[in-house]
Amino acid sequence: MEIVRGLHQLKTPMTSPALPYIMPYVFEGNDGISLFDAGYGTPEASDALTRQLAVLGYEPKHIRRLIISHAHPDHLGMAGWVKEQSPDCELVMLAREWQWIVDRWLDNDGWTKLSDQWLVRHGVPQEEIDEAHAQGNLAPNSPNAKQAATGGSNGKDAGASAARRPSMRFDIEPEVKLEDGEVLEFDGWSLRAVWTPGHTPGHLCMYETKHRLMFTGDHVLPHISPNVSLHADQEGTSPLSDFRHSLQKVADFDTAAALPAHEFTIPDLKQRCAVLLHHHDDRLEEVRDAIGDDTASAREVSQRVKWNTGPFDDFNIFMKRSALGETLSHLRLLEDEGRVRRIEGDGAVRWSKA
Ligand SMILES: [Zn+2]
Repeated sequence: MEIVRGLHQLKTPMTSPALPYIMPYVFEGNDGISLFDAGYGTPEASDALTRQLAVLGYEPKHIRRLIISHAHPDHLGMAGWVKEQSPDCELVMLAREWQWIVDRWLDNDGWTKLSDQWLVRHGVPQEEIDEAHAQGNLAPNSPNAKQAATGGSNGKDAGASAARRPSMRFDIEPEVKLEDGEVLEFDGWSLRAVWTPGHTPGHLCMYETKHRLMFTGDHVLPHISPNVSLHADQEGTSPLSDFRHSLQKVADFDTAAALPAHEFTIPDLKQRCAVLLHHHDDRLEEVRDAIGDDTASAREVSQRVKWNTGPFDDFNIFMKRSALGETLSHLRLLEDEGRVRRIEGDGAVRWSKA
């Protein structure tokens, strides 16, 4: 679909029935094209991209620039394939996201160990974790990891049904590492980098100045609320606080339309941001109430709150980790607001209402 002259919205398939596709955006240029996000690292996804580019009169070798909103498999996954097709293609992302990849994804074993200790500290029984490892379920590159990467408490991720395993390379260092506010200019297009931490620490939105278009990646989606988690490697940070500031940040732009990575175009970005802020206000109340009159672990709180994807106890271990991270991002914000208290002791963290 052509959004404005020379800018096209495509669709490449994912492996989840609930999130069936991701939308790459194609900018036409003088001697090739640039993309904002590409898609999963599956042959189905790269075939779909190839077919849709052909309709526009291009081949994958014409991709000069690949801008990535964030380092999740449905956004970064195809980067390796794109670089094979077009070796001179520049990979572009925020410097902060690349730092996150270096810190977290390039040391999978270290991260998994840290994450396991964190699960136990927040109430998940060690036997459950051991069992998940025995089934190969806890590795960051397991198919289940792809499924849960996007959907949050209001999300639509379908859980562990993936039969196909998308490839994913985290070791491609971007040629261009952007800073917040930096303007990327090419072929008459002018895009301003908007750092929007929350869904990931270095999530990138891009503001196109001429037509007042905001490319929102997974930061703002029209129906789904993105997962905002506090994970093992993020102790001391508050991703939900970051996310709320990032919503306000994009809402403050004068935007004609927002172009997200999933679902469909958002006509009123300000209104959608307001709805998302409201959703998290409700969720904060629900999380606080779920603590009850005694103390509770983050796991117990997660068992008591409502999830669109079913009860917590039915989740596989990867979804539990994701849900626990989401509960903790809310508890952390409540703690900062003085509404809950963290009680540490005996290798375990519990929470009480303040
Ligand atoms: Zn996504």
